[in-house]
Amino acid sequence: MPALMLQLSELAEAQNYPAGALYVVATPIGNAADITLRALHVLALADRIAAEDTRNTSQLLARYGISKPSIAVHEHNERSAAERVIEHLRAGERIACVSDAGTPGISDPGARLVDAVRDAGLPLIPLPGASALTTTLSAAGAFIGRFSFLGFLPTKAKQRASALTKLAHHPQALVFYEAPHRIVETTRALADALGGERQILIARELTKLHESLHRCTLAEAPSWLEADANRQRGEFVLVVEGAPEQEKAADAHDALLTTLLEKLSVKSTARIAATLTGASRHALYERALSIAKRDTEEE
Ligand code: SAM
Repeated sequence: MPALMLQLSELAEAQNYPAGALYVVATPIGNAADITLRALHVLALADRIAAEDTRNTSQLLARYGISKPSIAVHEHNERSAAERVIEHLRAGERIACVSDAGTPGISDPGARLVDAVRDAGLPLIPLPGASALTTTLSAAGAFIGRFSFLGFLPTKAKQRASALTKLAHHPQALVFYEAPHRIVETTRALADALGGERQILIARELTKLHESLHRCTLAEAPSWLEADANRQRGEFVLVVEGAPEQEKAADAHDALLTTLLEKLSVKSTARIAATLTGASRHALYERALSIAKRDTEEE
């Protein structure tokens, strides 16, 4: 091993890695080299690996000459598997929790296991590393500012449209994960709900051979994707600019109107909101009316 790597490995080794702890370890999102020395050290030290897909993780570990017993902890068995993990931890084992790719618990299994370990009063040690979320944001630029991470949108068109309508005035940039077979319809739904003028960053196949980052307006996004079938392949992260200033004000008004509507008629709500905000009573009346209608439909 080169001298510098040796020194860094010593750094990783120098830390205290208590027995009976769960280590939450990020793994690469494409390029197998994107794993930290500390992650490798902990994976080599662990007595057992709690993995979303044990075969997938064994293949990754084999590339680093590591082979360990494993427990499958996935979306469908996380609660029951957590009990087994806790038994092993109580017996003094070090267990490393990994998902298929990236950081566990971020649109991936891991969060319930972490809750169970914390509830059992056992130590939890997170190791930082790759995530499609932070990798995208690192190359997104200043158009984002603050952001909200939404993970995957609902897959059914009606639920997706309703989720996006609720986000239409959200002041922060919105970050989504998306699958290739839905990417075109999702960008179309985003343009319909948020308007075509906002900027979107389409990050595809990060850290892999066909990595690409494309920024355009929401109106342009579906046709850009459709112009070349290759642009619709692989894994995606979408970052959409937050609502423009006038919509942010509308969002603040919506919050006030929604609260007032809990106790008052639409007319009184508009009158009081106009006094408090100085905005047009007529515009507030129209908005309060549509909120009241939407809430009745949802009930
Ligand atoms: N826990 C992972 C993380 O930290 O990024 C995310 C897991 S989630 C099940 C998988 C989704 O993350 C994919 O559908 C895609 O939206 C996004 N993703 C994962 N790897 C990616 C990559 N290399 N390029 C772009 N998006 C990726």
